[in-house]
Amino acid sequence: MSRIGIIGGTGLYKLGLESSSEVEIDTPFGLPSDTITLGELAGNQVAFLPRHGKDHSILPHEINYRANIYALKTLGVDHLISTCTAGSLKEELHPGHVVIPDQLIDWTRARQSTFFGNGIGAYVDLSEPYCPVQSLTIFKIIHEMGIEVHTGGTYICIEGPQFSTRAESELFADMGSDIIGMTAMPEAKLAREAEMCYTTIAGISDYSVCGMTSSRKDTMQNMHMMIRNLNEILTQIIRRYPSHTDYECSCTSALKGTIITSRSGIPFDTLDRLEAIIGKYRLEEGGSSPHGTILK
Ligand SMILES: [Zn+2]
Repeated sequence: MSRIGIIGGTGLYKLGLESSSEVEIDTPFGLPSDTITLGELAGNQVAFLPRHGKDHSILPHEINYRANIYALKTLGVDHLISTCTAGSLKEELHPGHVVIPDQLIDWTRARQSTFFGNGIGAYVDLSEPYCPVQSLTIFKIIHEMGIEVHTGGTYICIEGPQFSTRAESELFADMGSDIIGMTAMPEAKLAREAEMCYTTIAGISDYSVCGMTSSRKDTMQNMHMMIRNLNEILTQIIRRYPSHTDYECSCTSALKGTIITSRSGIPFDTLDRLEAIIGKYRLEEGGSSPHGTILK
């Protein structure tokens, strides 16, 4: 069954879904951040997972990104939408606005960032880390809601769990970054490895560069407004998510031709561990092994 996956960021710990139920999923990579809510809205099947846990007890560097993506993949998620709050590095990206980034800089240092390894190598193309088709669709829906939304922009993901120094923020802005946050990577990369269309909806909470200031009170007000907006935005996106678009993307075949390890060299337990990710590339017939013989 095809589902829209939602990963809720700061402040977004539940979603108003019809006929919902909670499922607890274990994965070969450990437990996801929390139970996953399955439900429906306007006929669309949805799986919702709060990235930091329902009580926000998991910090960005503690999140088990692999378990989160793997669990959603096993539930049939092929379209993944995440929300986050982010700092602005550009004057025109005001607190309270929404940004749909199209590029990423990975400034994290100590995260498990791939499903591969342990005897199997694959190198996915991450030149466009966000699905351009899905992101455009979502931009249009938010724009039609009358919300200030920017399409495109570079998200720099830092390790955290603290905000950047002034020198770092100035450096990141000089590098061409537009917004700054702590959770887009490795989430985007893992979503690509799992062949999901992936889009981030970033709500700007404050300015991160000196000279563009917002008070603590303004920041908190913006945060609360953003969280209200993100809830409504997600509801509208799910209600209006098209069953078909005129443009095609390559996200759902991102692994095709990228697995370079010769079949005989891949341990069986690695293949089994990655069943939800690479299962469709394993041939059922042929050879003496119940694990299939080759990868397409
Ligand atoms: Zn896509």
